[in-house]
Amino acid sequence: MLLPVFVGIAMTNTMTTRLKIALQKKGRLADESFALLRKIGLTFVANGHYLVLKCTDFPADILLLRDDDIPAFVARGSADLGIVGQNVVRESGKKVREIAPLGFGACRLAIAVPRNSKFKKIADLKNSTIATEYPNSTKKFFRELKIPVSLAELSGSAEIAPEMGVADAIADIVDTGTTLEAHNLIPLEPPIFRSEAILVADPKLSSAKKKLLEDLIARIEAVQKASDKKYVVLNCSEKNLAKIEKLLPALEAPTILPLAKNGEFALQSVATEKEFWAALPRLKAAGAKDILLLNVEKIVL
Ligand code: ATP
Ligand code: MG
Repeated sequence: MLLPVFVGIAMTNTMTTRLKIALQKKGRLADESFALLRKIGLTFVANGHYLVLKCTDFPADILLLRDDDIPAFVARGSADLGIVGQNVVRESGKKVREIAPLGFGACRLAIAVPRNSKFKKIADLKNSTIATEYPNSTKKFFRELKIPVSLAELSGSAEIAPEMGVADAIADIVDTGTTLEAHNLIPLEPPIFRSEAILVADPKLSSAKKKLLEDLIARIEAVQKASDKKYVVLNCSEKNLAKIEKLLPALEAPTILPLAKNGEFALQSVATEKEFWAALPRLKAAGAKDILLLNVEKIVL
């Protein structure tokens, strides 16, 4: 009669496997990271005092960290997954598995120089001093270009370094460029790299955790596929049906349903918002009416 005991233990093990997901506690990635987890169906209560949030309908716990600590946590398995900027991962040099870009937190690590500087292009920076919070990425970039530079390592506010006479140029994260402009700096091309928020994983996940990760990846893909899509619903009379069917953009083909009114039909379709607006004038001219555009939350193909 040992069997039920073994079965019991095996079941408990699978049931207790929980993923630890590291997110930025506060900052530019925090809101969208929380929003993504909620969109993929994870429910948790964010309470300012706790740094570990329990998900109630998925076996996962959320760890709230400084973004700089996320690659190290994931690389040593203290967290199984993390959402962090690629820039932070690259700078850390930690060995994590990059699973998927997430479509937010876009920025670039760029070299910038004072507007009136004698340095006009990257090659001019030979033997100059560059202030940065990103010493590893900056060193690597110039080493690969074989341009010798000195670094002034700062832990923030690199953009004031040229005015203060601390450096000739900076290597810093740029999004719109307004901070650079405010300090009379201009970015040089090319950037050291482009970055966005990514999902990273511990490369040594157990098979039970890999299964949970696959489930999360499928959910994220469903959200990402839907992100630029709308559900289009419109009505038309039978005589215009063939023409409108051809004009209506669709993933596969529109659904056509008869209305409870003789000779009238409804067409339903999934299209990008851009495709919808482009097709709208011709759809209307062809007799489309009662047009609705609805949000699509997830698409599983
Ligand atoms: P923490 O307190 O967690 O260490 P932080 O101050 O280092 O936060 P944030 O300024 O919140 O970091 O930026 C987090 C990430 O957002 C960056 O690492 C980068 O990937 C991304 N990002 C997008 N646009 C910008 C931007 N204009 N400036 C800085 N980071 C940006
Ligand atoms: Mg940080």
